[in-house]
Amino acid sequence: MATTTYVGRFAPSPTGPLHLGSLATAVASFLDARARQGHWLVRIEDIDPPREVPGAADTIVGQLDAHGLHWDGPILHQSQRLFHYETALAKLAAAGLLYRCTCNRQRLRELGGCYDGRCRQRTDTAQAGALRVRIDGDPHISYRDFLRGPEHTDLRTSGDFVVRRRDGLIAYQLAVAVDDAAQGITHVLRGADLADSTPRQIFLFRQLGLATPEYGHIPVICDAQGRKLSKQNHAPRVQPAAASANLCRALVWLGLTPPRELEGSDPESLLRWGLEHWHRGPLKAETP
Ligand code: GLU
Ligand code: ZN
Repeated sequence: MATTTYVGRFAPSPTGPLHLGSLATAVASFLDARARQGHWLVRIEDIDPPREVPGAADTIVGQLDAHGLHWDGPILHQSQRLFHYETALAKLAAAGLLYRCTCNRQRLRELGGCYDGRCRQRTDTAQAGALRVRIDGDPHISYRDFLRGPEHTDLRTSGDFVVRRRDGLIAYQLAVAVDDAAQGITHVLRGADLADSTPRQIFLFRQLGLATPEYGHIPVICDAQGRKLSKQNHAPRVQPAAASANLCRALVWLGLTPPRELEGSDPESLLRWGLEHWHRGPLKAETP
């Protein structure tokens, strides 16, 4: 039986349909997984209802399918996994790593992104507020990004971080680490806008005694004005009817230029070509 030691994933939040930037990320993680005979999973990160758009998860799944990005196994939905996040929180709490933070927004704003640990000293049993994890022990996180090379971070530059928000919702950092572990993910390839989060996730893997995946971050794709393509910037959704042209643009951004004669080919043929030519960085995501 064939064995694989590579499990990759694409993990969109259903906050809107895919645009060319998110499509390119999906293509890169798909090609990297398939080029190594790996599995490629899709996970819908629907744990933040206030930011979600009804129907977006179905739209994204349809967009992936129309672009020939066929995944392995069932799609995991984070909204179905709250029990597992609570279990991880209980484990961190049992290790004495969690505490309540009741600092208000204004105070946090004044701290400018580096939490000073003030609520570590709390002695009351307040039930309100966010749950933070204590950066205890060695705060230095080093890893080798498989696209960008060695990375080093001192977690004290951002401080103890939130694992359950003040509104009761599970924080992205915790959910993503728990699920990457549960799904046996070995390689996370995602946009560089998430690179800041990676050291915190590695810290959680360590504290929870879980195997840490390898990470690779691709440059974020920008529009002609140099702004990140995003839903906030109203980047247009990718249309299934233009799948072939969308894939060609995504491949070019990933440093691969399909030959003229492949223009207009079906998605599967374009991805097959992409697979033959995929190479890991340095990626030069270019402005369209
Ligand atoms: N759900 C996250 C997002 O759409 C991505 C998570 C990840 O790839 O780690 O921004
Ligand atoms: Zn606090």
